[in-house]
Amino acid sequence: MNLKNVSDYHTHNQLCRHAAGNLEDYVKAAIKIGLGEIGFCDHFPMYYLPENIPIEKYAMIMDEFPEYINEAERLKDKYNEQISVKLGIEVDYIKGQEVEISNALKKFSDKLDFVFGACHVLMDRLGAWCFDDPYFIANYNIYGIDSIYEQYYDKLLHLVESDLFDVVAHFDLPKKFRKFPKNHDRIFEKVIKVLKSIKRNDMVIEINTSGFRKDVKEQYPSWDIIREMYNLDIPILLGSDAHLLTEVGYMFKEVLSELKKIGFNQLVRFTKRKKEYIDF
Ligand SMILES: [Zn+2]
Ligand SMILES: [Zn+2]
Repeated sequence: MNLKNVSDYHTHNQLCRHAAGNLEDYVKAAIKIGLGEIGFCDHFPMYYLPENIPIEKYAMIMDEFPEYINEAERLKDKYNEQISVKLGIEVDYIKGQEVEISNALKKFSDKLDFVFGACHVLMDRLGAWCFDDPYFIANYNIYGIDSIYEQYYDKLLHLVESDLFDVVAHFDLPKKFRKFPKNHDRIFEKVIKVLKSIKRNDMVIEINTSGFRKDVKEQYPSWDIIREMYNLDIPILLGSDAHLLTEVGYMFKEVLSELKKIGFNQLVRFTKRKKEYIDF
């Protein structure tokens, strides 16, 4: 399969302090595997997160954000003939911080091509925690898996309805450590509710291949959710969530051929937060 019409919209880089390689290295890696487009989607500065979250290992600081933007713009020009480069950002959604996030994004609104909304942080009785960080793994036993999924999808619904984001990142992330809901049907009802809201709000869902590199050993979201997305006619794009150069475009060919079997034949591309659809 040719990847000329395919974009990887979820790549990190060393600015976030837990990824290797600079922005230019990621552009070169994408060219090398024949992608038509690469999107930078590093973690947005997390200064607005509760203080027990170790933000210094999760994201760049606000002072570095202009540098990220300037470097992306330089690379857009430099590699113009070889690959399309898009500038995005992965923002952690926190309920109650909508105005803060909106104001921060507004300052850069003429620069960004797309904005991912992600939920990594939950608020529980022992405080805020990052459910996808092994550092907090003991909390799965403390709170119980179903209540984690429930809180997660409730939060995702608020994320979607906040009208701040273009794309929902790694939709069913709480399965990362192979911890699945006990009451599957009840959690799936919540999934459907979130999907319908995504459709109403004209948003896109990322098919994120990083799950293949984690315990769960499959993409986010799972195929049963992707089939519901197809039935609801929800647009998609691909993201590798690369934190290493070798992860750019990870498992894209395999996932695309499965998506084709379900019936998908288009991927979304963004330019200055406007969608267009490309056949693959
Ligand atoms: Zn990361
Ligand atoms: Zn993420």
